[in-house]
Amino acid sequence: MSLSLEEMRVRLKALRARIEAACVECSRSLKSVKIIWVSKFQSKEAVETAILLGAQEFGENRVQEAVEKFGTPRAGIRVHIIGPVQSNKLRKAASVADVIQTVADKETLVKLEAVCAELNKKIDVMFQINTSEEDTKSGIAMNEVSAFFEDLPETPHLCFRGLMTIGKNTGNPEDSRAGFAFLRRTRAALQKRGGVFTDCTELSMGMTDDLEVAIEEGATMIRVGTALFGSRGY
Ligand SMILES: *Cc1c(COP(=O)(O)O)cnc(C)c1O
Repeated sequence: MSLSLEEMRVRLKALRARIEAACVECSRSLKSVKIIWVSKFQSKEAVETAILLGAQEFGENRVQEAVEKFGTPRAGIRVHIIGPVQSNKLRKAASVADVIQTVADKETLVKLEAVCAELNKKIDVMFQINTSEEDTKSGIAMNEVSAFFEDLPETPHLCFRGLMTIGKNTGNPEDSRAGFAFLRRTRAALQKRGGVFTDCTELSMGMTDDLEVAIEEGATMIRVGTALFGSRGY
């Protein structure tokens, strides 16, 4: 059962209050933080309810699920892939997505470029960095970041839009702060280089439990599931 419009409206209001309080705390403008509505494991009805409440950007972990919910493009709705994509799913991912946030190796970049050239489609990509240093998480390792961005393949169909990370899941949001700050410093270093990194402005970090810390550290996109949709029906 998905939430009613009223139930979700109340959740959105509470989330906005959290975002606003965090923005006030660090003197940021409310408009500088975008909400990505993480609809993984949520029903199509839940997505429709979210759209009625003004949701425009959705995050899905799995390509197949994204295709089921967002396979037919809709005006004004953007789809972000926020889970790792297997190489044999890149074509599907590029077809359904406006943004792939989880690029973490050069092979993927090369394949994605080839697929997008074939589809005659330009998409936005973001690079996932493993700031938690947990082996179970995907992303570019922190000590490999400099080398990784040194020589990237040419990818005219991909626009580099920013960086993404997942905080530490320790129960204490403060534990994620250093990783979030690392993401911000990495973005600054890339922007200084200009060129293909000119549009690398986004920092996708912060979820239901650690969004305040992420906003304080400069998040421009927070990826929120539970706070908006309630618990997922696993
Ligand atoms: C599930 C998920 C989220 C949303 O998590 P919540 O705690 O429900 O807000 C955000 N980002 C990624 C990568 C996820 O997999």
